[in-house]
Amino acid sequence: MGVIIDCKTLAKNIKEDTKNQIKNITSNGISLTVASILVGEDNGSIYYQNSQEKLARELGINFNKMILKEETTEEQLLEIIESLNSDDNTHGIMILLPLPKHISEEKITNSIDFNKDIDCISDLSMGKFYKGQNSFIPCTPNSIINILESLNLDFEGKEAVVIGRSNIVGKPIGELLLRKNATVTICHSKTKDLKAVCKRADILVVAIGKPKFIDKSYIKDNAIVIDVGTSSLNGKITGDVDLEDVIDKVSFITSVPGGVGTLTTTLLLRNLCKVVK
Ligand code: NAP
Repeated sequence: MGVIIDCKTLAKNIKEDTKNQIKNITSNGISLTVASILVGEDNGSIYYQNSQEKLARELGINFNKMILKEETTEEQLLEIIESLNSDDNTHGIMILLPLPKHISEEKITNSIDFNKDIDCISDLSMGKFYKGQNSFIPCTPNSIINILESLNLDFEGKEAVVIGRSNIVGKPIGELLLRKNATVTICHSKTKDLKAVCKRADILVVAIGKPKFIDKSYIKDNAIVIDVGTSSLNGKITGDVDLEDVIDKVSFITSVPGGVGTLTTTLLLRNLCKVVK
């Protein structure tokens, strides 16, 4: 019987560690401040911004909560970001996506100063990430790699299979696993014989967005499975992996909810400590 990884305790430990780092920074006279910009009234973004705020306060970070009207123009938003870029008292800038349709996400995300882009969303940040030159790591892949590291694995030479090739999850987690010297295969909707590829995986990361898509027929004995998916099924948040079906075959697995998502915002805010370092 596999073990469901205790991501809540891991998240608690990372939170404590982050709080201590922030206390040290504060005792040196720096008051860490992050700006979070929401344009419009997307319900998911409102919820996410509120949870960012709650966590930031808990960690001892000043939270500059900016809520802008839906009608805000691209020029107005660019001006606001420019003023935050040049404000020495703002250490990080986060933009809630999606933006209203009349605003170019490309232009906005690329206008954030690289040194304050804690979410690692600009092209420059991503480019530097893939060259190993960026100290910020995008938060979802960072959460996945922290979970795997907590298992004290020897990654070297392990077969790691990632399903999904998005810019926010699939590709960057592939890069982080490569850095660990795993042998990485990234799959997608056009992959032939997905099952056969997955059955090779010592580490299987699933980020598709299709509830309970992966059952035990995809799993190698004793594989470690990280379920990134968060879809709604019958009103419940559900992962991409059918946990009950695979639990006897895996060595470790994350649950949904209570898995990858429990660490992401803490790790995002922890990036602020790197800004001042
Ligand atoms: P995405 O941009 O929609 O990408 C999904 C990927 O899955 C694509 O690469 C797609 O292939 C692939 N895919 C779809 N159906 C497939 C199939 N039948 N077989 C193989 N591959 C298939 O999604 P995302 O943004 O990466 O997110 C993935 C999931 O993770 C979603 O449920 C999202 O809500 C969740 N998520 C969770 C967190 C968290 O903190 N827990 C954070 C981010 C995302 P193609 O490229 O060929 O289309």
